[in-house]
Amino acid sequence: MYRTHTCGQLKIEDVDKMVSLAGWVQRSRDLGGMTFIDLRDRYGITQLVFNMETDSALCEKARKLGREFVIRISGKVAERSNKNLKIPTGEIEIICNKFDILNASEVPPFTIEDETDGGDELRMKYRYLDLRRSVMKKNLELRHRMAQEVRNYLSKQNFLEIETPVLIKSTPEGARDFVVPSRMNPGQFYALPQSPQTFKQLLMVAGYDRYFQIVKCFRDEDLRADRQPEFTQIDCEMAFVEQDDILDTFEGLTKNMLSNIKGVEITEAFPRMSYSEALENYGNDKPDIRFEMTLHEISGLVKGKGFEVFDSAEYVGAICAESCSEYSRKQVDALTDFVKKPQIGAKGLVYVKCNPDGSYKSSVDKFFDQDALAGWASELGAKPGDLLLVLAGDKSRTLSALSELRLEMGRTLGLMDKTIFAPLWVVDFPLLEWDEDSRRFYAMHHPFTSPRPEDIELLDSDPGKVRANAYDLVINGVEIGGGSIRIHDKALQQKMFKTLGFAPEEAEAQFGFLMNAFRFGAPPHGGIAFGFDRLVSLFAGLDSIRDVIAFPKNNSGRDVMIDSPAKIEEELLKELRLRIEQAKA
Ligand code: ASP
Repeated sequence: MYRTHTCGQLKIEDVDKMVSLAGWVQRSRDLGGMTFIDLRDRYGITQLVFNMETDSALCEKARKLGREFVIRISGKVAERSNKNLKIPTGEIEIICNKFDILNASEVPPFTIEDETDGGDELRMKYRYLDLRRSVMKKNLELRHRMAQEVRNYLSKQNFLEIETPVLIKSTPEGARDFVVPSRMNPGQFYALPQSPQTFKQLLMVAGYDRYFQIVKCFRDEDLRADRQPEFTQIDCEMAFVEQDDILDTFEGLTKNMLSNIKGVEITEAFPRMSYSEALENYGNDKPDIRFEMTLHEISGLVKGKGFEVFDSAEYVGAICAESCSEYSRKQVDALTDFVKKPQIGAKGLVYVKCNPDGSYKSSVDKFFDQDALAGWASELGAKPGDLLLVLAGDKSRTLSALSELRLEMGRTLGLMDKTIFAPLWVVDFPLLEWDEDSRRFYAMHHPFTSPRPEDIELLDSDPGKVRANAYDLVINGVEIGGGSIRIHDKALQQKMFKTLGFAPEEAEAQFGFLMNAFRFGAPPHGGIAFGFDRLVSLFAGLDSIRDVIAFPKNNSGRDVMIDSPAKIEEELLKELRLRIEQAKA
């Protein structure tokens, strides 16, 4: 037996017991007559003591132990004179009488403690060392508990967890596919699923009316903090349901997780906001409603007063930052620089300080007198002491810039409390999105999303106006999940493909299997998928999903630990009948 207990287990009640432990040397302190070692395993840290007086040979040997050596020890539990009440085992220590080195360790490339000196890339390269740190372990434990909760909750509601294949063909979720060449079918490729979308719909046709899966999805797109080329979804589908049934079920799941994992009880229904309301009031379709500071259009108040920037703008909008009228020149300049960043794209920033004495000071005093500025302030519900920030330009870009500015102010003013969870449903998305470059419509969600029945006739006359039976769950400004009621009628699905610019043969070649299935009694159905990594990182209070994934990829999509992607053998290429084109110099 390697050990009688773990390193997180022994307490004051265990004093005088003879025990053995196994683990890693976290740290060793040599105090002349005594050597103290912190022994770590997955469960915690226990202090070991080696005493020069009682066993000098053993103590000498212990002194030579380096960081991250794996050892097994035996000894007696004793009460500590110098207690550390911050850790569960802090009242005891083990007076060791024996130990074996199970494996030596080189000096690790960074310190394996909560506050590590390792940079991101180094930690990724030695991920197995990084995962020894207790902060990382907590994230994986949380992930595990959350997955258990999902399985429990959904199983109790009669959902079946059913696996779907990974070697499939393209699922249109809006990203590029990862592909896998087929040796047995030279020149042909599988695609990895961007989601199990078509399979879960086929399961509904097959009669499995409640499906879920915690499943890997693959999307070849540019990476950001909350994106990975492979990520995990809680994927679900239900038959014989309407939008409300799905929202109720998954609102229940979310509340259950918040309650059981975070101790956060939300009793009232999640608010629902239409897509257009979200855009008008928050500037994006994933509003962070932990704080107000909503957007207000003031075009009507400001145009035609001779200020060219406003006069030529399609949209002029503002937010009101409470109690910020004392912002210095420097602070306002910093905000101006912020909105002018290329990724935000505003041309400049107009401010109005609502001074505590009731007067106004703005950067456009030349064009707008005190009465005019008072009109803006009243439109925004601003009080003396507040600061108005105004942006102008074409509508969609200005809304999105105002949204970024709002979030920046929210961050600066400490309004984004990570212990608060503010969920909402965004509903009534447009079905289609016009792309000016390719001059065609794209499905805003995916091509299987059903139009609202009352809007179907607009599909021919004004496709851009058609609303979808689609919904997103947003928590704290993070899109946690999205789904839709699906098309289950062959003719309507064909029409949808046509609207999206597919030639009938093309639609048939790509999605014939699904449209065929619709010929054989497809029930009405709909579903949703939650981004599991995002949900875990939100619950963990982190900004990146990387830290909740055991082995993530870096921003260039590389796994720097196993050094992948990598070249493959010439032989294999031949077998696959592939030839690599040399990059041009
Ligand atoms: N397949 C969709 C997605 O991955 C979710 C859904 O419609 O259920 O976003």
